[in-house]
Amino acid sequence: AAKRMGGGRALMTTDEQAGEEESAVNIESALRDALQTGGLELVYQPIFDATGRFARVEALVRGRGDYLRKVGPGAFIPVAEESGLIVSLGRWVLEEACRQMADWRERNLPVFDFAVNISARQLVQADYTDSVLQTLERYGIPPALLHLELTETTLMGDFSAMARIMKRLSEAGVLFSIDDFGTGYSSLARLSELPISTLKIDRSFVMKLLESEAAVGIVRAIVNMSRHLRLEVVAEGVERPEHIKLLLALGCHKFQGFYLSRPLSPEALEAAAFAGDTAFDPSPFRGYVPV
Ligand code: C2E
Ligand code: MG
Ligand code: MG
Ligand code: MG
Repeated sequence: AAKRMGGGRALMTTDEQAGEEESAVNIESALRDALQTGGLELVYQPIFDATGRFARVEALVRGRGDYLRKVGPGAFIPVAEESGLIVSLGRWVLEEACRQMADWRERNLPVFDFAVNISARQLVQADYTDSVLQTLERYGIPPALLHLELTETTLMGDFSAMARIMKRLSEAGVLFSIDDFGTGYSSLARLSELPISTLKIDRSFVMKLLESEAAVGIVRAIVNMSRHLRLEVVAEGVERPEHIKLLLALGCHKFQGFYLSRPLSPEALEAAAFAGDTAFDPSPFRGYVPV
């Protein structure tokens, strides 16, 4: 930690800390630049239902340039949140995802709905509801095709303000998912006050499923709870066919992960979607009759 004296002036920082500070500044300016020069793009990760059918895509942002590509969204999204750039980044992501979906719908691509990640800071913007609904309308996309993904930690902010905004969007048809579920501390009581349709089980639980009874127990508990709240459960981080078999048996509804598909460029997604189920390995789903 920096040693501070007197007026709080940093007298010494470790190299590591200096490096972090510098890179946050660099990341912020690279993001600012990317937002102004078309330096961002979206990739789309397929999500599959319990019959192995390709059912949804999650839009994930990427930098086009080497630097942001190397940094990755795991590191640049937190910087965007800290700096406030997330508001314009988020606006761009929704716009681009809608543009792409409208194009795919027009060309009868067999893709039904889509998920976009958002941050709390976007949600509480004064014009957020209107801007989302106007964007959907401009591209002729029914609101019920859009899933907005929020992490549990997001909901630890101004709960009642967020609940109000979510309610308005949800009344217009927009769906909400809780992302990385199980890593935060949201209570059942709080969750049931929100218009949520989906829980996405964090991949840390899925990764441990085959070795850890505790992880199996946690997933089982999440699925049981979801049944009572009538929520859809998506498992993320599915990296092995055994994960899918086990998650199906536990009652998960949808599946996302590198085993089924990595996030794809729009061109690769199109090719896979037009190729139908033959583009993905259906064997883990075989013999399972969804209830
Ligand atoms: P997330 O929303 O939980 O997205 C899933 C992340 O897990 C993606 O990483 C995806 O590539 C990765 N993933 C999917 N399947 C597997 C798997 O089987 N194994 C492993 N190890 N990883 C898997 P990505 O694209 O690097 O995104 C990281 C995070 O950045 C996202 O996590 C999301 O929180 C955030 N993010 C990405 N795009 C946006 C955006 O447009 N807006 C906002 N606010 N956040 C975004
Ligand atoms: Mg997500
Ligand atoms: Mg996730
Ligand atoms: Mg995650």
